[in-house]
Amino acid sequence: MKITILGAAGGEVTGSAYLVQTQSASVLVDCGLFQGGQRADELNRPPLPPDGQLDAVLITHGHLDHTGRLPLLAKAGYTGPVFATPATIEMSALILRDSAHIQSADIERVNRKRERAGEPPLEPLYTSAHAEAIIQQFKPVPYQQAVSVAPGLQAIWTEAGHMLGSASIQLLVDDGGKTKRVVFSGDLGPRNAPILKDYEPFRQADLVFLESTYGDRDHQPFGETVEEFFSIVQTAVGARGKILVPTFAVGRAQLLMTLLSQMFRRQLVPPFPIFLDSPMAIAATEIYRHHHELFDEEMLRYVAQKPVRADLQTLKLCATAEDSKKINDQPGPCLVMAGAGMCNAGRILHHLKANLWKPETHVVIVGYQSDDSLGRRLVNGEKLVSIFGEKIAVKAQVHTLGGFSAHAGQTDLLAWFNVIAPSQPRVALTHGENPQREILAKLIEQRYNLKPQLPELHEVIEL
Ligand SMILES: [Zn+2]
Repeated sequence: MKITILGAAGGEVTGSAYLVQTQSASVLVDCGLFQGGQRADELNRPPLPPDGQLDAVLITHGHLDHTGRLPLLAKAGYTGPVFATPATIEMSALILRDSAHIQSADIERVNRKRERAGEPPLEPLYTSAHAEAIIQQFKPVPYQQAVSVAPGLQAIWTEAGHMLGSASIQLLVDDGGKTKRVVFSGDLGPRNAPILKDYEPFRQADLVFLESTYGDRDHQPFGETVEEFFSIVQTAVGARGKILVPTFAVGRAQLLMTLLSQMFRRQLVPPFPIFLDSPMAIAATEIYRHHHELFDEEMLRYVAQKPVRADLQTLKLCATAEDSKKINDQPGPCLVMAGAGMCNAGRILHHLKANLWKPETHVVIVGYQSDDSLGRRLVNGEKLVSIFGEKIAVKAQVHTLGGFSAHAGQTDLLAWFNVIAPSQPRVALTHGENPQREILAKLIEQRYNLKPQLPELHEVIEL
């Protein structure tokens, strides 16, 4: 069998896709979109085998960098199954519809310019019709059970603790009567984070692909980060300020709502208005609400005592642009969660423009900020930024909370690997920038006497 690495390799963290080809079948594990960077446009092609024959697609979790090229498969004529856990199917549907919408909107903007320049229009990468087509091809799989996915190929999904429905996948390949095992970690979450269960590592592999996003370091401890968040909220509410949280729609928004519910339940702060200003975050929260079976025991006890929403009587869901604009008239104290998470687009820009220049405003950065984003400039402490072409003074207090990551830090990556290491697998580190995966590789070599490969994009691993 051979495995061609078609994304999240060579120091890339986006575009996850592995093409597995055996004597009897070809399957893809993940089908992610390349995001950002100069080469994204040219790299975003359907990750199909040269003969175009694909038997199945297996998805680890719903994030766009693991699912975003799926509509390209539909566009290329693929009509086979896409296997994923039920929650991943719902999350993927939400995320792919949004992605198709963004692709169309972006290309419309480009085409208006091209029309004025007398140039022919460009096609979007894919449309809503392609997204809807592939969404119909999803097939639900249970956790912890071998599922037959293609001739001679079975797969087992286990909890990855990274987002609702996330999984690691073990592929069982019938190789002339002998079973070979290939494990894909997918994105792994931190242990002991609230809401979701912790990851469940596999014990056996001939080859393991391990993500290495934070292979070089650990995050700030979660408990400390929570205390810091509580104290920011208390200070801001005491001073009647506005708290702006640029947030990704899935994961972080639900975590913050849970923490705010804890603050109200424990009476750490009097109830004050909270705005969830993102249609996608509202939809993602609904998906969380009917997947309690994926919650950890602590969260199950917490919601059994009282539903989170019973604490959040002051939460307003802002679905429309009108709802969003009305937040402008809301005096402090209040807290606004809005996208985009890196402040490079979306409703958060309007809130930042209206409030960054006020000293009583607090901006809380809870996620990764890429180098070229407005979020990174705020983190770096720039005192003057440009939003919608207007200069805005940054008088607000900007807080960066490093401990709310949805990714396992170095210690948790190694703890996951420690369980599979005794089976003496070959190891390939993917989904990490090069400095991060080199540090992790060195540690694995020292501790387990295994020499991890650091594959490049399009590299082929034969087993
Ligand atoms: Zn992810």
